[in-house]
Amino acid sequence: MVRGKRTKPGKDFKSGYAILLGRPNAGKSTLLNAMLGEEISIVTPKPQTTRNRILGIATTDDYQVIFLDTPGVVRSERGLKAFLAREIQRAMADADVIVLLVEPFGEPKPSERELIEKLKKLNRPVVLAINKVDKVKKENLLPLMELYQELHAWQAIVPVSALKKNGVEAVLAEVVKAMPTGPMYYPPDQFTDATERFIVAEMIREQVFRQTRQEIPFSSAVLVQSFKEFEGIVHIAAEIFVEREGQKGIVIGKNGEMLKRIGTAARQKIETFLGRKVFLELYAKVKKDWTRSESKMREVGYQ
Ligand code: GDP
Ligand code: MG
Repeated sequence: MVRGKRTKPGKDFKSGYAILLGRPNAGKSTLLNAMLGEEISIVTPKPQTTRNRILGIATTDDYQVIFLDTPGVVRSERGLKAFLAREIQRAMADADVIVLLVEPFGEPKPSERELIEKLKKLNRPVVLAINKVDKVKKENLLPLMELYQELHAWQAIVPVSALKKNGVEAVLAEVVKAMPTGPMYYPPDQFTDATERFIVAEMIREQVFRQTRQEIPFSSAVLVQSFKEFEGIVHIAAEIFVEREGQKGIVIGKNGEMLKRIGTAARQKIETFLGRKVFLELYAKVKKDWTRSESKMREVGYQ
């Protein structure tokens, strides 16, 4: 991405919010990172690991697009899932342009059809990005594009491989095309409004998933307790909250080996991100059934 240098945008300058919607694992975080050229949203092979809203900001001389990453389409239930569903509703209402990400493996799923119906009522431009096209043959892609063509008056349908970075620029171009003219909301060199603390917590949480390989996408939260820099080293202490003793055992591992692995892998990523040396201390703690209670969710860092 070419970063803008001009601070006074002209009258044709385009700006606004764009959100990425789609089922868990569709590739939203991967696409966002590819469009921004920065790793600000965590990407994992397991669904629903992105929880909070992350703004990614793409600025050039001609536009500023403020992206919102969402945790994927979730059905309303109590506790955490209801919270996520509300967040998505709010994000949809705020967006100037919506990017719907789907996978190219067959017909749209019922939850995707439901979402498309909602989008129709919202009356906003929607770019349909058919992702992971590196995994399908061209002759299977065309009928799929025709099928989607029937479902909605899309701003555009763009085949893309977020992973191989093919078609990423085309998605961004369509988003910009549909943006209204407007001011520059953020300084041109700012690429996110997520705090360093938040990104660090996400990087640790990503390693909890990657290293433990446990299907516990809803059961861990990371809270950064302290974040201080002295003598050129960033000292970070963070707590990893899980729901049960058994999960704590998994996170700590035999002789603390798992926690050490999580820490080492996370520290390397954090050092690259911050561009400084990092000393990372991790603690695993149980907060019983925290995903089921909104007050406990606040205690582990959800506002
Ligand atoms: P999200 O849940 O929608 O944010 O999905 P992620 O961005 O976390 O991606 C989920 C998984 O799909 C990860 O393993 C990605 O590497 C993978 N993925 C994302 N985009 C592509 C793509 O274009 N091609 C392929 N083959 N895999 C992809
Ligand atoms: Mg994601």
